Amino acid sequence: MTSDEPPLQLHQHFLDATNVPMLAVDLDGCVTDVNIATLRHSQQTREQWVGSDFAAHFIDRAAAAEVVRTALSRGELSGRTLRTTTGDGHTAELELHLARAHDAGRVLGLFVEARDITIIKAVEQRLTAASHYARSLLEASLDPLVTISPDGKIMDVNRATEMATGCARDKLIGSDFSDYFTEPARARAGYQQVFSTGHVTDYPLVLRHASGTMTDVLYNASVYHDESGHVAGVFAAARDVTQLKRSQEALESTNREVMLLGQMTSLLQSCRTVEESLPIIRATMTELFPAASGQLLLLRPSGNLLEDAGTWGEHPQSLQTAPPTDCWALRRGHIHDIGFERTINPPCRHIDAEDRPYLCIPLLAQGTALGIIHLLVDPATVTEMQKQHYRNLAATAADSISLGMANLRLRESLHAMSIRDPLTGLYNRRFMEEALVREISRMTRADKFLAVAMLDIDHFKRFNDTYGHEAGDVVLKEFALLLSSFREGSDLACRYGGEEFLLILPELLPEQAIKRLDAFRETVGHLAVMLHGKPLPNITVSIGVASLPAHGSTGESLIKAADDALYRAKQNGRNRVEVATVSPAAQRGADQAVPAAASAPGATLQQAGS
Ligand code: GH3
Ligand code: MG
Ligand code: MG
Repeated sequence: MTSDEPPLQLHQHFLDATNVPMLAVDLDGCVTDVNIATLRHSQQTREQWVGSDFAAHFIDRAAAAEVVRTALSRGELSGRTLRTTTGDGHTAELELHLARAHDAGRVLGLFVEARDITIIKAVEQRLTAASHYARSLLEASLDPLVTISPDGKIMDVNRATEMATGCARDKLIGSDFSDYFTEPARARAGYQQVFSTGHVTDYPLVLRHASGTMTDVLYNASVYHDESGHVAGVFAAARDVTQLKRSQEALESTNREVMLLGQMTSLLQSCRTVEESLPIIRATMTELFPAASGQLLLLRPSGNLLEDAGTWGEHPQSLQTAPPTDCWALRRGHIHDIGFERTINPPCRHIDAEDRPYLCIPLLAQGTALGIIHLLVDPATVTEMQKQHYRNLAATAADSISLGMANLRLRESLHAMSIRDPLTGLYNRRFMEEALVREISRMTRADKFLAVAMLDIDHFKRFNDTYGHEAGDVVLKEFALLLSSFREGSDLACRYGGEEFLLILPELLPEQAIKRLDAFRETVGHLAVMLHGKPLPNITVSIGVASLPAHGSTGESLIKAADDALYRAKQNGRNRVEVATVSPAAQRGADQAVPAAASAPGATLQQAGS
């Protein structure tokens, strides 16, 4: 700067009125003038400023010098920020605007405006932080969150929404929110509800992912307002309830299974025979294992053979019998599986569908094997998880079935014991008396005949006395076997007591009965019985026969008539068949109750025998 020229000056009155610090700087970067705002801001005097190096007032002096150089060369520079220390010791951020000052075409220096933007910067930073904070909150949510404009267009989404819909943010924003649900109309109805009531709670919808999979969600949404209190849009949050729904479904299905097992157990307890229990077991298994076919195989009481006791499902094995050693489950006493998990289990020999996964569950009760349940699952429809479930469920079902089955077997054997004679295995007298009543009423209803025969081994006391009680027992057993083989159709044989036996021969005309009984008497005479390898002498039998309706219409009267006839057989020399005589009372009853054909032969029966 040359001394004869007046220094460049601001128009003081005007410039001192502004609150923005302003300075004039010469071509050397020296301050030539400042306004009052500069003095106030820096808390320095005009003397301190004028003549000082402009760059020296900033923390980064080199940067400040560079700003001056650039402004001088370009003519103008805007928006550069530099930090300075204020008079009270604070750091202030100044935004500089510099412009070349000219006089008659000559560059004299720079006018500098230094706006303190410290507060604006701080507010900006806080705003940015607040915005980041809000965004982080949105993004931290695993639930899809969206804001929707009043006309139903998506305005903002979080990452979870992108995941749930399979659509990128760009595509989502601006699109209609209802497009992403399986029921768009229902989604819009929910949206209307938000507007009318201000919010919705747990509004159920199904989100459709771009890949086609569905997600059950519950929506919670509320309106939000702008500064003037107008509704600006809806903020909606979806909660994925697929897992919850799945748990609920699993719980329901478990409840159903427990209920089914309970029902089965109760029904099995009310069964009287194993036979009666089989349809119940089949029905329960069909319900419990909808994706499996199965078969129940029961062990014979002797334990030497597995026998089919029913199948269910679409493709069951239809095995009739198998030796128990064919089944690994029975051999080992616990569930045997193939294709359920990676094992070295060998397949059971009773299986022919080797490509399908299966379970064999042994039925065990009190250490006794009763049979197996065989479950063949369809690999196409059963998931790995379901398989594990089937395994556990099958074990539980098998426990209930085993217990029920063991009870039924016990009941059956007790029943057999109560109706059978232990020595001969024939029905006992009590059972026979009940059966006779039943048969009489059945034959009477059907207008049919029935014969009752009383059989007594001849001189059996003598036989016992001569050959011993053991020999007597063997003879009784052999006699009973012969009597059983003689039975036909619905004939019933019983040990009436001691060496006396009773036969009920339904549907036989009296003369047919006599003929058959005499043939039997004949056979008894040839019955060869051995004891300890030695033959015992032959026996003979005396038989008395009575016929419905000629000789009685009740069990009691028929037995009495047969017994009387037997007495006569003994009287008349034994080893013979005698027929009851017609009682006048029975004859009267018969005339009323039975067709004409029935009354005729009874009156003319001839004695038979040798
Ligand atoms: P009858 O020809 O008149 O029928 O003469 P009986 O000796 O057969 O008749 P009785 O009624 O006098 O004798 C029946 C005998 O049968 C008496 C008993 O020794 C024998 N007895 C009855 N129950 C059994 C049994 O369970 N085992 C054996 N070994 N003998 C029996
Ligand atoms: Mg006797
Ligand atoms: Mg006798």
